[in-house]
Amino acid sequence: MIPDPAGPLGRQADHLRAAAQREPLGLYLHIPFCLDRCTYCSFTTTRDRALQPAAVARLRREIRAWGEALGRPAVDTLYLGGGTPSLLTHEELAGLTADLHAAFDLHPLAEATLEANPGTVGLDWLQAARALGWDRISLGVQALEDGLLARLGRIHGAAQALEALAQAGRAGFHRRSADLMVGIPGQSLSKVIEDARTLVDTGIEHLSIYLLDLDKACPLKAEVEAGRLTLPTEDEVADVFEALQAELPRLGLPPYEISNYARPGAGSRHNTRYWERRPYLGLGPAAASQLGDFRWTESAVIPAWIEDRGTPEIQELDAAEALAEIPLLGLRLHRGVDWAELRRRAAAAHLAPLVDGWEARLRSLAREGLVHWAGDRVRLTSRGMLVSNGILEQFV
Ligand code: SF4
Repeated sequence: MIPDPAGPLGRQADHLRAAAQREPLGLYLHIPFCLDRCTYCSFTTTRDRALQPAAVARLRREIRAWGEALGRPAVDTLYLGGGTPSLLTHEELAGLTADLHAAFDLHPLAEATLEANPGTVGLDWLQAARALGWDRISLGVQALEDGLLARLGRIHGAAQALEALAQAGRAGFHRRSADLMVGIPGQSLSKVIEDARTLVDTGIEHLSIYLLDLDKACPLKAEVEAGRLTLPTEDEVADVFEALQAELPRLGLPPYEISNYARPGAGSRHNTRYWERRPYLGLGPAAASQLGDFRWTESAVIPAWIEDRGTPEIQELDAAEALAEIPLLGLRLHRGVDWAELRRRAAAAHLAPLVDGWEARLRSLAREGLVHWAGDRVRLTSRGMLVSNGILEQFV
């Protein structure tokens, strides 16, 4: 979305600019193209590659417009996600990167991540991306069993995923992450653990473990609902997560967030900013932003986004909503939340009773072994992480 001075965000220009100048931002770019649609996917993406040149041109205009509107603010993390960013041509990636440098102050840049699909990368592309300054790569591996990958509609096999990780290393990506999925119909517990071990053996520093999410309509959900495929039970899924919680620290990747494991110090800085409620700007269809008291999401209809039609959804957070997000997001992190700091903020906003209520519930959960208090810090235990949804819903 191009910031419109007469629109709802334009009217908050001073507020947004001040927020963007207070501390470095995270910047997310969404590349909404894929070669094929995975059977479980509900992301904003399309196979219509004919739209790609117009979408990239549009994204480049957005980068320049937002950089100007916010006074060329400092950015310390970049994240190119999708969709499939590895479908960008060298020229497109170079153009986007040049615009980022022109529109934002990237001196504090500490991390520049791009997502890639193992079925679309080659050594040339990876080397070109690395030469442009992208220094961290996240590969959607999902599983290392060809039958399961076919069921998911992935365009790559297991060997191709491992080869992509190796090529990324050869191209100079020392910071490599892989995604692994749990809860795929037909997936065994022992195979998930074996896949995690195989991935760690490749030398990756980071592993994201996601539960297959079939909340929204998709072909895989239809197969399950028709009884042609069976999802693992909740207990089976919990067993897998419990086994991974035990195994990955032994392999040198302790958890730092509910779904993420990394070598010490190698957590995703960009994603950590979401859990710490630090400001971010998201550009591209369906991309979300949060600056100051405002949060908005761009149009998820790709042709409408390209033509700057469609109204962004804008939300102004009140003090209680903003306060609740600190434990809602912060308790996802293994290091938990500084409760004394939360109390200070609550007192300043005249919301101390709200925090008293949350604390009473968290103290009671501590007696059940789901939450751990250490002085003024509170965090979820390993068991608490397994049932985190039920614990965190009190903050929603
Ligand atoms: S590669 Fe990712 S974004 Fe693209 S269809 Fe598959 S799950 Fe969706």
